[in-house]
Amino acid sequence: MNKVEEPKKPLAYLFITMIVLLLVMNLFAVPFAQQSKIKEVDYGTFMKMTQDKEIATVEIDENEIYFTSTSDKDQVYRTGVMNDPDLVDRLYDSGAEFSSDVKNSMSPLMVFFLYWILPILIFALIGYFMRKSLMDKAGGGSDAMTFTGMGKSGAKVYVQSTGGIRFSDVAGEDEAKENLAEIVSYLHDPSKYKAIGAKMPKGVLLVGPPGTGKTMLAKAVAGEANVPFFSMSGSEFVEMFVGMGASKVRDLFRQAKEKAPCIVFIDEIDAIGKKREGNFSGNDEREQTLNQLLTEMDGFEDNTGVIILAATNRPESLDPALTRPGRFDRRVPVELPDLKGREDILKVHAKNIRISDDVDFNKIARMASGASGAELANIVNEAALRAVRDNRKCATEADMEESIETVIAGYQKKNAILSTKEKLTVSYHETGHALVAALQSHTAPVQKITIIPRTSGALGYTMQVDEGNHYLMTKEEMLDQIATLTGGRAAEEVEFGTISTGASNDIEKATKMARAMVTQYGMTDDFDMVAMETVTNQYLGGDTSLSCSPETQKAIDAKIVAIVKQQHQKAKKLLEENHALLGKLAQYLYEKETITGDEFMNILNEEMAKKIPEKSE
Ligand code: ADP
Ligand code: ZN
Repeated sequence: MNKVEEPKKPLAYLFITMIVLLLVMNLFAVPFAQQSKIKEVDYGTFMKMTQDKEIATVEIDENEIYFTSTSDKDQVYRTGVMNDPDLVDRLYDSGAEFSSDVKNSMSPLMVFFLYWILPILIFALIGYFMRKSLMDKAGGGSDAMTFTGMGKSGAKVYVQSTGGIRFSDVAGEDEAKENLAEIVSYLHDPSKYKAIGAKMPKGVLLVGPPGTGKTMLAKAVAGEANVPFFSMSGSEFVEMFVGMGASKVRDLFRQAKEKAPCIVFIDEIDAIGKKREGNFSGNDEREQTLNQLLTEMDGFEDNTGVIILAATNRPESLDPALTRPGRFDRRVPVELPDLKGREDILKVHAKNIRISDDVDFNKIARMASGASGAELANIVNEAALRAVRDNRKCATEADMEESIETVIAGYQKKNAILSTKEKLTVSYHETGHALVAALQSHTAPVQKITIIPRTSGALGYTMQVDEGNHYLMTKEEMLDQIATLTGGRAAEEVEFGTISTGASNDIEKATKMARAMVTQYGMTDDFDMVAMETVTNQYLGGDTSLSCSPETQKAIDAKIVAIVKQQHQKAKKLLEENHALLGKLAQYLYEKETITGDEFMNILNEEMAKKIPEKSE
């Protein structure tokens, strides 16, 4: 769906063609035209015509003589020069007229045609064909038609057609759709709103993480309302048209007003709408563009029928001037899909590929927790690609599962050869995660464990999958999860008495989690419900900035270390108590390389059953 359109530069092409043509004309066309008019004759003919007084005009060059005859003054003859001393006298006697441009003699009409009419005709033809080919390209097979005015805005006009996107193509995101449905209804019948005096917001801001379908939703609004769709990306404004951002904005709105009712969509609006700085060092270009946008938005009256939709994943960085009433005053969150949403998105995209009927989409959706719409679309496509690679007619559930792993962890590294010792270390490490998870009560069930290296650099991983939706996490769940994360390292310690570099990712995650517990969720007694950190980048990885004194920072760091350490000890203790079980599971994983959660639980339960009677005796 992400169409990448090459910027077209018809003007530049035209310019080059023009220059080339002019050169060609001058080099060939004119001499050629004359050449065809000039008739070569021998000197005898020339002498005879002189004698018969048939020469009208004559020009004597160094090597050639050009002349015309009295019978046909348009016909130029040429002959060579002979050693003929009294030629001039004879010519004079014959009544010939001496001229200096016989060879260039062309009828004025001919000159006019060659120099003026012909070039214009050629350019007109070129222009016609270029326009035609542009139209064909835009119209053929795509759901959009693109006009690119010469030197005018590069904003693309998508005129709706049968291939247009509708709300039904966007799975999940029901709240966003509900919100936007009002705009569709307004575009259908503005008078209804005018009658009661209601004003539609001029601008609607779609905010959410990348790949959640913001662009799709905007297109769907245009599709549902059956109105033209102008789209432009904020970064295009500042990058593609250096020094022209403001005029591009003007153009865009001029076009939009002509075509109203319509939708103007500005993607990545944060690229132009970033907070303006008080000092002078700011980006001038960007500020001018932003100012122009604000002016345009204020400039058109309410109810003109132009609705501006804009998308961003950094709403906090937008200039307050953009979000104040009368501009982008409505904000529609487009969040990552929940379980139901993921299932629907998978189903929507699975319709486009051939897939076996028994695929459990719910299970796939659960496995792909946290995935965005774009990632889910990618997962479905990967599954189809895998089926083709294996020469199968349709994709299966196994393909889908594998492609989730591919999207999350990269492709399998078929030729990565681990030494026996390393492979054993990895299998103990992964079993450690899984076993610690299974032995605690507030954790998600293990779905799969694998020790096949991935292109992402992961040597193996343990996949845990929640049963349903999860909106809240309790303190116990967070602590158990930290323990699970430390389980890999703990297993290495318990079995080998030494540690490896394989736990770096676990360490990072565990630290992040513990930090969040302390600084954001108020889960420690020491700091109670005081926020020590604010999230600055909610939709892009969630960067945070500290807001506390240096002393407090120290205390926070100490607290984080204490939490992780405690959980690490807990994990280690759990594994020491179940050392034999750990060994058995790790050995099994070592041989199989990939085991399912069920296989894992079967062995676990068997061993546990053996253990309990022993204890009770
Ligand atoms: P954004 O603009 O939020 O970054 P896009 O609208 O460009 O995301 O979505 C990228 C692709 O992801 C879409 O073309 C579509 O294939 C897929 N996608 C995202 N969200 C959905 C959804 N809710 N339903 C169906 N497909 C989706
Ligand atoms: Zn690990």
